[in-house]
Amino acid sequence: MSISDTTDLHASFEVHRSDSPRPDAERESLLATPKFGTVFTDHMARVSWTQGLGWHDRRVEKYGPLQLDPATAVLHYAQEIFEGMKAYRHDDGSVWTFRPWANAERLQRSARRLALPELSTEDFLASVTALVRTDVDWVPSGDETSLYLRPFMYASEAFLGVRPSMQAEYLVIASPVGSYFAGGVQPVSIWVSEDYARAAAGGTGAAKCGGNYAASLLPQQEAYARGCEQVCFLDAATGTLIEELGGMNVFVVGADGSVSTPRLTGSILEGVTRSSILELLREDGREVTERDIPLTELLDGVRDGSVAEVFACGTAAVVTPIGRLAGTDFDVTVADGSAGPVMQSIRTRLTDIQYGRAADPHGWMHRLV
Ligand SMILES: *Cc1c(COP(=O)(O)O)cnc(C)c1O
Repeated sequence: MSISDTTDLHASFEVHRSDSPRPDAERESLLATPKFGTVFTDHMARVSWTQGLGWHDRRVEKYGPLQLDPATAVLHYAQEIFEGMKAYRHDDGSVWTFRPWANAERLQRSARRLALPELSTEDFLASVTALVRTDVDWVPSGDETSLYLRPFMYASEAFLGVRPSMQAEYLVIASPVGSYFAGGVQPVSIWVSEDYARAAAGGTGAAKCGGNYAASLLPQQEAYARGCEQVCFLDAATGTLIEELGGMNVFVVGADGSVSTPRLTGSILEGVTRSSILELLREDGREVTERDIPLTELLDGVRDGSVAEVFACGTAAVVTPIGRLAGTDFDVTVADGSAGPVMQSIRTRLTDIQYGRAADPHGWMHRLV
C-alpha cells in the first residue's frame, strides 16, 4: 500500500487534538528512558460499535480515562481482545510498522471467537495510522526503540445477562518503549508449569484475549517464586507437549541446525513473529518443522547436547534466548546458557528489516508517516 492510500485511509478518522498535550521538554524527558507500558502518548484512536449502527464515530481524541458503568459486560464476563505491534522510526525520519495486515486479521479471528464485532482491515490500518500521525513526535529515534501500539476491543454494553454485548468500543493506545535488552541480549529462565494450563482444545488459546493472560498470572507468579522469569505451558490434554509462554511462542534449534516449533493446535497463539521467523528460516533452506514437541524429548536433547538453542519470540522482545528450563523434578541449562547463533542471526535479520537497515523483499513493512 502506498503512502497516499494511507492518507486516504486515515482521513476517515476525525482528529480532535488534546487541549493539554505534554510540553516538548516533558515529552523528550519521558522519551529518554521509556519503561514498557508506563507512559502513554497524548491521544488515542477510537471507534464505537452498536448492533444497529455498526462501526461509527472514527476519531482520534485526547488520551484519558474511560468512564464505565459498573454493569459493563467486559468487567463481568471478560469479553475483550487485543493486539500488540510497534511503530519504528527509520533513519530518514519516516515511521513504519511491521505486517499490520496480520494483526488486523488476527484481531478479526479473535473477535469471532469472543463474539465481538469484526473491525475491517481498512479501519484497523486507518486507526493506527491516524494515531501515529497525530502523536508522531512520540515515536522515539534511539537505537532499538519504538512506539508500542496496543489496539483493543471490549464489550461496552451495561448489561449483566450472559450473551454477546450489543455495544463495543475499539481503541488504540500507544506507549514509547526503549530497547528491550538495554544491556545486551539476556537469556531468560523458564519455569515449566505442570499444575496449570493456559488454554485447552476448543478454548480461547488461539485468540489474543485478556482472559488468557488472566489465567497465566498465577502460574507466572509461581515461576517467580521458583526463581524463574517466565512460565512455559504444556498442552492441557496430556500435560506432555510444549505449547508456549504466557505471551511468546517457542522455538527449538537442534545441534544439526534443524529448527522446530510447536504446531498450531488451536490452543497456541499464532504469533506474527513466529510466522516471520518460520518464513526466514525456510528461505535459508533450513529444515523447519511445526510439530508436537514432548517436554521429555526437549529435556533429553538439552541434556545430551542434541538441542543447541531454545528461544522465545514475540513483538515486544522480538527474540529472547531461553538459558534455563526448570520444573518440579528437573533444572537444566541450555548449552552454555547464553544466546545462541541462530537466535542472534534471526533477531538481527528481523530488526534490520523493521528498522529499515535491510531490504524488505517480503513487503512486510507498511509506512505510517
Ligand atoms: C501476542 C502473543 C504472542 C506473540 O505474538 P506476536 O504477534 O509475535 O507478537 C505469543 N503468544 C501469546 C499467548 C500472545 O498473546
